[in-house]
Amino acid sequence: MNFVAGVDLGGTAVNYTIINQQGEFLIEGLCEHPALSVQGPGVCLKQIEDGLHIAVEKAGVKMDQIAAVGLDTPGPASATGVLSARGSTNFVHEHWAGYDIRANLEERLKRPVTYLNDGNAGALWGHVSLFGPENKATSVSAIIGTGLGGGIILEGEMVVKGRSGFGGELGHVLIPYQSIKGIEGLHPVCNCGRTGDLEALCSLTAIARDFLPYFLPRYPGHSLAAMDIKQAAKHVRGMAEKGDPMCREIFRVQAHALGLFFDEMINTFDPDALIVGGGAIETSPDFQRWFIDEIHAGMPAQRVEQASIPIHIMPNGDTAGARGAALEALKLLR
Ligand SMILES: [Zn+2]
Repeated sequence: MNFVAGVDLGGTAVNYTIINQQGEFLIEGLCEHPALSVQGPGVCLKQIEDGLHIAVEKAGVKMDQIAAVGLDTPGPASATGVLSARGSTNFVHEHWAGYDIRANLEERLKRPVTYLNDGNAGALWGHVSLFGPENKATSVSAIIGTGLGGGIILEGEMVVKGRSGFGGELGHVLIPYQSIKGIEGLHPVCNCGRTGDLEALCSLTAIARDFLPYFLPRYPGHSLAAMDIKQAAKHVRGMAEKGDPMCREIFRVQAHALGLFFDEMINTFDPDALIVGGGAIETSPDFQRWFIDEIHAGMPAQRVEQASIPIHIMPNGDTAGARGAALEALKLLR
């Protein structure tokens, strides 16, 4: 019996999962090991290997039964897993620049290693969780975290990676945000330099950079005004869930931005499903339903055939990367 491991490498932790050939997951929740990425690739790859042994044991299988390993990391990186020469904000050590993490891990683990960026890995998991491992469906996933990641799965399991690995970089797609009511005069600028792309409106960074400075003066005496703005931004989701009017308004604007974006994707791909994931919607089912209703409310009028395209919440959000990475490696066994 062959098994496949999924390895989700973040800046501080590595998360693992193990699946069998039928695509069943042998580890339910998080299985984490410290990444030590600030100590450079040499130390970090040893950490990945050490943690993998622990995960394999936890799953009740043997290391020599692991036929392949799927790796995902934050971008920017090439489609084959060479990290950007400009380095990465998540991996703070000079030796990471231009580092071929996939090939080096493959050499270390002595078995095939596949690579996806973390957004694409999450999107693959979201897709397979809806449609199963064998399918011909198309989906678009938006994952709202510190930034906005995501991915596009075309007619089955094909992950759109693109020429340079930037396929599915949905956060930097421009949207006609000027049509959203209630943010007149707002100029949402993204880290990438664009004004009005999806990440500039729909991310934790957008809340700290754009929305709190815009909305706090409109809600005098709001409790978040006294806080450091980056800390305050982290409270917005919880307060929105509890019904705070300003925080609800911020999430309404984010949902409408996502509605505009999904409308673009509907007209580009005519997908079977749209999927939302990430920390922003790790909330109660009630809030998730409200958020999805607001996404629909933010969309322009659509053809009858398009209006029925469902919007789903991605399950198992904190393990999505590892699960998607494993599913990519599973393709090697088929
Ligand atoms: Zn951008």
